[in-house]
Amino acid sequence: MAASGVIVRSMLHVTAALIRGFLLRCPHCKTGHMFRTMFEMYPVCPDCGVVFERDPGEITGGMGINISVTMFVFFVGFILMNALTSISLVVQLLIWIPFMIVFPILFYPCSRGLWVSILYLTGNVYRE
Ligand SMILES: [Zn+2]
Repeated sequence: MAASGVIVRSMLHVTAALIRGFLLRCPHCKTGHMFRTMFEMYPVCPDCGVVFERDPGEITGGMGINISVTMFVFFVGFILMNALTSISLVVQLLIWIPFMIVFPILFYPCSRGLWVSILYLTGNVYRE
């Protein structure tokens, strides 16, 4: 009984941290904004001072999430559209090619926010 309570609390903690990252809020203090503009991330949280991405190469984690989610949505969407509708392949390409260009751009801040949440959950988001 007590072990299941710990598991539920841990799952809620992980889910809440990932949601805060997706919503571009600091996973540590829950209030600080991660981004100054849509494409410019603060190096440290303006509210609590934790460093979001400690190493210069950390941006690749967010890029990996971005590419993975984009490809997943494309493949599932394409397969479902192909199976469930009679839309021609040309029209499907006219839908999915712009999607593959626009979606990663719009999802960019959220993917970096999710990566910062993963860094936080693994103990790599803290003050200097
Ligand atoms: Zn913060």
